[in-house]
Amino acid sequence: MATNTRILIIDDDPLMSLLVAKTIESLGMTATTVTSGEAGINLYKEQGADAILLDVVMPNGMNGFETCRALRELPESRCLPIMMMTVKDDMESLRNSYTAGATDFIAKPLNFPLLGYRLQYMLRSSDTTKQLFESERRLHRIAYFDNLTGLPNRQFFREHLQMTIALAERLNLKLGLMYLDMDGLKRINDSLGHHVGDQFLKEIGDRLRHSLRITDAIAWSGKTDGGSAIARLGGDEFTILLSPITRNEDAALVAERIRQILSKPYIFDNHEVYASVSIGISTYPDDSTTAEGLLQNADLAMYHTKRTGGDGFRYFSKTMTEIANRRLTMETYLRKALEREEMELHYQPQFAVRSGDCIGVEALLRWHSQELGQMPPSEFITLAEKSGLILSIGEWVLKTAAKQAKTWLDKGLPVARISVNVSTLQFIKKDFPAIVQAILHEVGLPPERLDLELTESALEADEVDILDMLVSLKQMGVSLSIDDFGTGYSSLSRLKKFPISTLKIDKNFIQDIETDSANAAIVAAVIAMGKGLDMKTIAEGVETVRQLNFLKTLGCDQVQGFLLAKPMTSDQVEKFFSTSVRLNFNSQ
Ligand code: C2E
Ligand code: CA
Ligand code: CA
Repeated sequence: MATNTRILIIDDDPLMSLLVAKTIESLGMTATTVTSGEAGINLYKEQGADAILLDVVMPNGMNGFETCRALRELPESRCLPIMMMTVKDDMESLRNSYTAGATDFIAKPLNFPLLGYRLQYMLRSSDTTKQLFESERRLHRIAYFDNLTGLPNRQFFREHLQMTIALAERLNLKLGLMYLDMDGLKRINDSLGHHVGDQFLKEIGDRLRHSLRITDAIAWSGKTDGGSAIARLGGDEFTILLSPITRNEDAALVAERIRQILSKPYIFDNHEVYASVSIGISTYPDDSTTAEGLLQNADLAMYHTKRTGGDGFRYFSKTMTEIANRRLTMETYLRKALEREEMELHYQPQFAVRSGDCIGVEALLRWHSQELGQMPPSEFITLAEKSGLILSIGEWVLKTAAKQAKTWLDKGLPVARISVNVSTLQFIKKDFPAIVQAILHEVGLPPERLDLELTESALEADEVDILDMLVSLKQMGVSLSIDDFGTGYSSLSRLKKFPISTLKIDKNFIQDIETDSANAAIVAAVIAMGKGLDMKTIAEGVETVRQLNFLKTLGCDQVQGFLLAKPMTSDQVEKFFSTSVRLNFNSQ
């Protein structure tokens, strides 16, 4: 043992102290002696020690057990080795020593060489204990803190929330829980790389910390007596616990402040980046009285904020749970819809503006659920995409549409082409072209009779080589359209490279084409762009003659809409074509 190992001896018998000190010094360590428990505690507080030898029987003042207990209560003495010098070597003394917090004990009269050995042994194992404590602390950091931002993680937050709720229950307090989801992380990762994405998250952590003036200390000690706690749950999701709040409305003030702070520009490597946040708020005890419930409800409220455009906050409400439950029920039935044959395709004819000829039909999916009734595609398609069901449903749509087109072809009906909507999730699967090919082959439909409607988002996906996919479909003989064109951000230079045959102008632009000059300008620009790129343009959602005439003047190639024909069943399509194959637009 090195000379800088310092042993403190507490014994009211000065002679005994001296003998013990000599033994310790003979082992190369430093000894300090005091004659009372009180003096020992004070000296330890001032100077510390590597180990303490403590006499049990000290008639004046604190006895050894009391001194040991008091020492153990000091925060810095967690790993301090303490050896009791007892009068008797029996079970009773042993139990008393350990319950007082001693590490070891030795009976008087002392066997000095033995004392030396036991002391050294105790010091060595205390080093191991210290290491164990250290690694436990490190583990604590890993288990409870997020490496990147230094903020507490989900686990910590959940436990902290549980403790705060317990306290709030006793003290009758209100709490506010905010669930934050940043919009923009994926964009930053994709365009500027992951290291910038990491910087972005760190900066969010810093801004949140500053905005709430919270120190790590609050988080560390897990204080429950008020103050806010921030955590990063993972990805770009953060939570903030406001405790306590006076009124539920108070949370809105904080939420708005945070929204403003997080939407200020971020500057990384000379790039100015903008991002916004979607916030959901739940309150204790009104929205839930459990940690799980509060988190879930705040998350749900956040989701509603996001769905309605993001960049803001929203309080949880009971109807949100109803909507979520409805979605869950819907998903359960949607899973069974195909095998229960509840799905059907309707077909809406499309026409060439100049000749009035029908040039094809768009297949539109319909779901009549036994339990829920007729469901609008706008609702169940999103759900099918979220749950992954869109893959099997989409394949069913493709096959059914192809079969129908083949039947009409064989019957000699003038349906030149069938357009099928393809979800981006279907399209980004590597085997998508192979699936299309297999279906065409199986059904026996010539590929040029199939048109696939993709959305702009499909062209932006980076999961697969988009150009590769498009080219292989094109080479197969299938034609490709961009649906809802104008709502995304397709860049002209990218679009030029792709083998697209038709741009489908979104019906929202058509709806008020005569009254909204901005929309009229967009439609005119898309049509001109189509001509420039050698692509056809089709306008959907044409409802009035004036819209049709307007589109005609602009030089739009094709139209589709309620004015000309509504989506109909296959039987209705057959009837429709047996009476009016060609529409005379000029007379309308
Ligand atoms: P979409 O691809 O933009 O389809 C056009 C929608 O406009 C259809 O709605 C159609 O019924 C409606 N529509 C047609 N003419 C008019 C009109 O003159 N005025 C108005 N206001 N609307 C008109 P629908 O059938 O409700 O479908 C909604 C959306 O659901 C579709 O929008 C498409 O995104 C999606 N969808 C439908 N079927 C499928 C499918 O088989 N697969 C996929 N992935 N999505 C589908
Ligand atoms: Ca479509
Ligand atoms: Ca559309």
